[in-house]
Amino acid sequence: MKAIDEIDREIRKITVEVSDPFGDSSESIWEIISFLRENSEGKKSEGKIIFDLRKREWEKNMYVTLYLLKIIDVDSFTSRVIYRIRDIMEDSLYSMEGESLSIEADSIGIPMEFDTKSHLYFTRLQNFTRSCSRISGSQFRLVYQVFDQKGIISSKNKVQKIIREFLVQEMREIVEDIDGEVARRYFESYMHDLSDIRAAAEKMVTSMDLGSVDVDSFPPCMKHFISDAKNGVNIPHLGRFAMVSFLNKIGMKEDEIMNIFSSVPDFSKKVTEYQVKHIIGEISGIKYVPPKCETLRSNHLCYMDDDPICNSPNMKHPLTYYKIKKTRKNK
Ligand code: SF4
Repeated sequence: MKAIDEIDREIRKITVEVSDPFGDSSESIWEIISFLRENSEGKKSEGKIIFDLRKREWEKNMYVTLYLLKIIDVDSFTSRVIYRIRDIMEDSLYSMEGESLSIEADSIGIPMEFDTKSHLYFTRLQNFTRSCSRISGSQFRLVYQVFDQKGIISSKNKVQKIIREFLVQEMREIVEDIDGEVARRYFESYMHDLSDIRAAAEKMVTSMDLGSVDVDSFPPCMKHFISDAKNGVNIPHLGRFAMVSFLNKIGMKEDEIMNIFSSVPDFSKKVTEYQVKHIIGEISGIKYVPPKCETLRSNHLCYMDDDPICNSPNMKHPLTYYKIKKTRKNK
């Protein structure tokens, strides 16, 4: 992936080109705006052509989208769109294998080798740890990897997952690095449409019904899990456990918790109902307590960033966070 200065030069060039209203760049920006608009209206927008990894333009389209997201500036909407792009990219990854898959990995910044005899993929240790540091799940922990002299051995499915999550991580970092002022200057002529999308995105966030609990006081990790669930993103097992036990402890009802899970991709009412009932103590008789920050952190499920409460020295538990924030608000 490119550094932010290089991306910025590319975007500036594109925005100069769009002065030709019939040019290619102008057309693709409108396609991206329409993709964003559909997402802000809660539709599962197609966007397949724009973000198809087999097409040359995907990278440029991704950068433009991230600049526009920076202008729209609604965090949960940014996440929603990033996950949607990820899913589209993942579909195109499924059609790649062997050398084409390792070349794709290489081109986005995960150096990889494909062995034509064994049909396995090899990544150097440092590249693996860098690419997988924020992917949850034991199959991405270094301790469970199989090595040989060429590096860490991976299957096709694992490589696809590594690329997919690496792209999510990169997209998040690029949005962080973009200067909002500069982005607004570049895309000034689209501000009217972007303001409409922003209003729809904000409406979507506030319409998130979570019962009588105080969503504003949730710690970043819980907000992240809920946003993932609502946006149809699979949550790792520990994340689900943490979210259900947390919501139960703060007084959310079982059917409200079930409702949050209804959008996750592998949702099964029967299985989810059983798991939720188990965690909240209806089956087991034990009301589970959410894991500590330390546990979430070591499983790459902490999303504290620069949150001041999370960064305070005594922050050890998501429930403590909730109590502190709620108390401060009610003062
Ligand atoms: S520090 Fe604790 S409460 Fe804050 S995001 Fe991380 S795990 Fe959650």
